[in-house]
Amino acid sequence: MFLVVLLALVGATPAHAYNAPGPRWPGDTIRYADTLPKNWNWSIEAAVRTWNRSGADIRFRKVPRSRAQVVIGYGNLGSAAGLATIGRHSGASVRVNSLLYRPLRERDRVFAAQVLAHELGHVLGLHHVRSDNCRLMSTPPLTYCPKPPEPWLYDCQWLSKDDIRGVVHLYGRKDRKPVRQYCLREPRPPAPEDVVFGSRITWRPVPVLSGTRVVITTYDAARCAGGTSPALSTAEVRMQRGRWTDPSPGAHCYEVRSVNRYGMPSASTWGVATPGQS
Ligand SMILES: [Zn+2]
Repeated sequence: MFLVVLLALVGATPAHAYNAPGPRWPGDTIRYADTLPKNWNWSIEAAVRTWNRSGADIRFRKVPRSRAQVVIGYGNLGSAAGLATIGRHSGASVRVNSLLYRPLRERDRVFAAQVLAHELGHVLGLHHVRSDNCRLMSTPPLTYCPKPPEPWLYDCQWLSKDDIRGVVHLYGRKDRKPVRQYCLREPRPPAPEDVVFGSRITWRPVPVLSGTRVVITTYDAARCAGGTSPALSTAEVRMQRGRWTDPSPGAHCYEVRSVNRYGMPSASTWGVATPGQS
């Protein structure tokens, strides 16, 4: 009796935490096509790359629609972000929510890629796992993942050990140990160029992504001589404006840089301007 209870308990805690009902696709390639607008390409490619680098002996390959085994497109999904067929399936498909994602906004592309990666996991033959750990195939996906150390980074290693074990269980080859990695949500913003410090600060505007602005922080003049002094004030200006005037001029040290919408700063230019200097 005691033994039976023990076995039941052991059975309730499987050694692996994936759910891979399949059926697996034959061969080592799954041919896909998409019917989404071009601004989805980044997200689709990130999702495909996630699985193509899993270490399992299976790859997604983009082909013309007439040759595709899986078609990725929009669908009316109610409140779900995405939906997919599971495993080998004639007319296999991935649908993303046309209400949420038409059109796909730039700032949603990472989340959209994670949704697509989760749905491609279904296409491979993986089903949901119940987990309060960081898993691509839990639902919703990647909920319990550690937060990146900075807001301009995102966790770009979406496959957990269990996600990889699931796909290797179906397609073979080696378990690869996932390494936590962070990627930039946007490239580091370029700094304003040719900054000149005088009765006003001027710079040559450079092209920036939307949401990036020039940030000017004012310190006591001692700061530019290597001293430590806290910031007196901070101003934000559009890059294209090309100039800024200190509303309370004095013997100040200025730090000029651009900052993107996620708070990521460019390199800084430091300079001193004293009243009366032009
Ligand atoms: Zn799902």
